[in-house]
Amino acid sequence: MQTVIKNGTVYQNGRLIHADVLIEDQKIKAIGTDLTGDKVIDATGKLVSPGLVDVHVHYRDPGQTYKEDIETGSKAAAHGGFTTVGAMPNVTPVPDTPDLMKKMVQENKQKGIVHIFQYGPITKNETTDELPDYAALKKAGAFALSNDGHGVQTAQTMYLAMQEAKKNDLIVAAHAQDDSLFNHGIVNEGEKAKELNLPPVTELAETTQIARDLLLAEKTGVHYHICHVSTKTSVELVRMAKACGINVTCEAAPHHLLLTEDDIPKDNGYYKMNPPLRSKEDQAALLVGLLDGTIDLIATDHAPHAKQEKQGGMQNAAFGITGSETAFSTLYTKFVKEDKVFTLEQLLSWLSDQPAKVFGLKKAGVLEPGCPADVAIFDLEHETELKEKNYQSKGINTPFTGQKIYGATVMTMVDGEVVYQRGEK
Ligand SMILES: [Zn+2]
Repeated sequence: MQTVIKNGTVYQNGRLIHADVLIEDQKIKAIGTDLTGDKVIDATGKLVSPGLVDVHVHYRDPGQTYKEDIETGSKAAAHGGFTTVGAMPNVTPVPDTPDLMKKMVQENKQKGIVHIFQYGPITKNETTDELPDYAALKKAGAFALSNDGHGVQTAQTMYLAMQEAKKNDLIVAAHAQDDSLFNHGIVNEGEKAKELNLPPVTELAETTQIARDLLLAEKTGVHYHICHVSTKTSVELVRMAKACGINVTCEAAPHHLLLTEDDIPKDNGYYKMNPPLRSKEDQAALLVGLLDGTIDLIATDHAPHAKQEKQGGMQNAAFGITGSETAFSTLYTKFVKEDKVFTLEQLLSWLSDQPAKVFGLKKAGVLEPGCPADVAIFDLEHETELKEKNYQSKGINTPFTGQKIYGATVMTMVDGEVVYQRGEK
């Protein structure tokens, strides 16, 4: 059967063109004008994008499936227009043996409705100084390594990890955090932490570890990727490292681009994430970093929690917010439509072809004949409201609920099959 998506504005090769997209046998068959098929999807006035790619999600499965599971997490991804994700390994048990990794990969495939790439941990259980067998993890299906949620505290451990990762051609994706400096902080060090009388987080907890890791990355030649950079100094360090030829890439999270500590209205758990919301100056530096290529891509850090874990004050709330279902629309509305900081092409690149390229996810994030028919269709013309009842995730922990947005997802396809359609839950 042939399906044709007619008359859309299609994002292809960094450009927006008016075209039809023809799908056959789960693949893109052609992109052009006047294409015909057995089934027609009318995309007049809509944006037709490659399925988005998010290299940073938490699915809590196995171990904490009351927060999220592979099925609901991947449904949330599809609702946000994402068709490929990278799942972090901070589940219970951490997939740090080949058997656990094989099982994880199998579960992702069976229960997920989008393509799920699985991270292996940098160290056993994410918190030890013992390295798992990277070669065996890779063979079992791990696509990259991360201890996300934790920084690697010992320099020697990170040094050995990078040497081993380099040997096995695996990316080390780091949550940069020195625990001694982090010191159980909650809110970015500054006026807001004082106002709310909450423990401050110094930016040094992030930046000193990035500085250390960049030197280790230079020495080992590993591909070092930094998760959710959040400070001006982090961006400056990466810019400098790239100029020196160090093999480093990094991502920014939507909430660090959209919000600052000044937006925390009161002591509210929905504004607690790690790294914390930073200053206006940091936010501006992230935007400049994206625009000049220092920051390579946007990744959501989708971190669902149960309602009771985010209610009450910030002191007791869990770290993290959901992101899959709000990322594209909130970023599009603020930075493309309203403030005109980015072009639509730039935003789509940071959310599709760039993450695929950085992580070597072949045939993801692009619309090309021969590629899997992973497609997202967005409505850029009509305003809608982000509502809790529409979330597919088990987590409703996002401060963006209630916002008026453009860019709601109309339809998402994975391998030519519709996995999300607006109006159907
Ligand atoms: Zn993290």
